[in-house]
Amino acid sequence: MIETQDFEIIRKTESTISNIDFGNLPFGRVFSDHMFIANYSNGQWNRASIKPYGDIPVSPAMSAIHYGQSIFEGLKAFKTNAGQVLVFRPEMNWERMNNSAERLCMPAIPKEYFLDGIRQLVTLDRDWVPKDSSCSLYIRPFMFATDPFLGVKPSQSYTFMIISSPVGPYYAKPLHLKVETKYTRAALGGVGFAKAAGNYGSAMYPAQLAQKEGIDQLIWTDAKEHKYIEEAGTMNMMVVIDGKLLTTPLTSTILPGVTRDSFLTLAKEAGYPVEERRISVEEIIVAQQTGKLTEIFGVGTAATIAQVEKLSFEDKTYQLSEISTREISNKIGKQLMDIKSGDAADSRAWNMGVL
Ligand SMILES: *Cc1c(COP(=O)(O)O)cnc(C)c1O
Repeated sequence: MIETQDFEIIRKTESTISNIDFGNLPFGRVFSDHMFIANYSNGQWNRASIKPYGDIPVSPAMSAIHYGQSIFEGLKAFKTNAGQVLVFRPEMNWERMNNSAERLCMPAIPKEYFLDGIRQLVTLDRDWVPKDSSCSLYIRPFMFATDPFLGVKPSQSYTFMIISSPVGPYYAKPLHLKVETKYTRAALGGVGFAKAAGNYGSAMYPAQLAQKEGIDQLIWTDAKEHKYIEEAGTMNMMVVIDGKLLTTPLTSTILPGVTRDSFLTLAKEAGYPVEERRISVEEIIVAQQTGKLTEIFGVGTAATIAQVEKLSFEDKTYQLSEISTREISNKIGKQLMDIKSGDAADSRAWNMGVL
């Protein structure tokens, strides 16, 4: 258990919740009443506060803007039928955030700040957690460098914040993905494993080129040969070939997804054969042509399970298996959703109860 921290709490005098149409939530545009903020300077974290959501002042010389020391996390809170609020595996996000921080020369965030920050913030804004089971409160912790200094070196001051946003489903329908063989998201030894802001900015141009052709997202391939699949923009990829669930192993180029880990754990437990190994694009195409590719989907917190219905590679587009026939993704996806929303037993204590 995490002890309750002595955060300064300044409540918003009037909630804006009555302005929100919970039946029609766009992703990431609506924010709850409060935010968490902690500053780091002189080698330590100062007392954190939770206060009304709003703009923050920044220096034009702020180092995060110029040199990109900026990292983030993403996790979700769900409301159970009984009205309790559950946050899914927040410790994994804390660990991952500190791995990202280390790679970018940023300070580690104390576990109590991260976990109790989320807990107290979500407790205060609990009415913002949607009741509908396809919706949730998306929680966005992030940290950025704040030194007002133009020298290229690690900042000495940082801000860690948590904001939250009630959201509906991320992708409304199955996806059309394209295997990217020209541009690269991450190379070995780089920062692909970190949720570093710069990774997303640099992926936008190739994604936008594909979107002009009606494609939803890219599947990245390895930087060296463009032969092996890596992952999609904000999701790890999984395929089922010949009855085996396959996914790319975790290297310095792959974001170690909480959803990926949870899905693999449940699939193994259900007795499905699972292999973490390199998957060549050729293997996927051949499997598709011989009827052995029965499932292909992305897994991530924002998207949950995103089915892929069309796959483009070079100048061909393949129409993939009927979504309703996809046993592993449908079954394990539902089991995972049921654990998160409190509809199934949480035997591994993955959820952090908020209230
Ligand atoms: C966040 C993210 C994922 C998914 O991670 P989860 O912890 O499951 O949300 C996968 N790939 C990339 C590039 C990501 O940014």
